[in-house]
Amino acid sequence: MNLFRVRGILLSVHFTFFLLLAVVAWDGWKGIPEEGAVGGWVGVAWNIGILMAFFTCVVLHEFGHSFTAMHYGVGVRRILLMPIGGMAEFDSIPREPAKEFLITLAGPAVNFAIALVLMVAVGVPQGWPWTTHGYTADAAGFGRLLLTWNLAMGLFNLVPVFPMDGGRIFRALLATKLPYVRATFIAATVGKVLAVAGAAAALFGFDAPLTAVLFAFIFFAGEVEYRAVKRREIEDAYWRAAMARIYPITPIPDEPPVLR
Ligand SMILES: [Zn+2]
Repeated sequence: MNLFRVRGILLSVHFTFFLLLAVVAWDGWKGIPEEGAVGGWVGVAWNIGILMAFFTCVVLHEFGHSFTAMHYGVGVRRILLMPIGGMAEFDSIPREPAKEFLITLAGPAVNFAIALVLMVAVGVPQGWPWTTHGYTADAAGFGRLLLTWNLAMGLFNLVPVFPMDGGRIFRALLATKLPYVRATFIAATVGKVLAVAGAAAALFGFDAPLTAVLFAFIFFAGEVEYRAVKRREIEDAYWRAAMARIYPITPIPDEPPVLR
């Protein structure tokens, strides 16, 4: 479902997002009796409010990527919101490590900026972030939940594996010294090794099969990224060769969209 445009970027919501909304609303209706949460319509309003605030921060994170990309002349088609997070669709990503580094870093940077503002605004309880007793059902508690969540989102995205921002940042750093495809190969391989280790720990150490599935997803995301970069490299070579035969001067090819 398409919502609205900001600076030409279309904001869309995937239909599964509404399933998440329903689940979260139902959770709020039931409340958490052992923690004294009220439930009912107040619970619904609280949970929906928190979810909307979370996803507003997800959108701001994607705007961080998008506006930085636009600064470098990269077109941004839309931002798609899904239950697992947001995704900005770019026309192309410049294969210039410095630009890719800054475009990617801008997302987590937005989360850290929001966290900092909230920290000043609502303060943090003693023992934060290892305690939950600051998360009271009032404006300050709301702010602290949002603060913790932004910090978690910023840090999680910096984990150096594809498809997280950290994987791209890692690749960009490698690509300052290595060819782009080689840098992607190394970043994807490191991600895969970490994913296998994580899956093994989840299965045998923590007995958490769902977490192991997440690591499997991360493993294949690394493979997908490497194959996409490799394929682009081969296609670009064919394209250049074909164009060189047709035109005396090679025009800039119209590139396929890049997801992130
Ligand atoms: Zn991001």
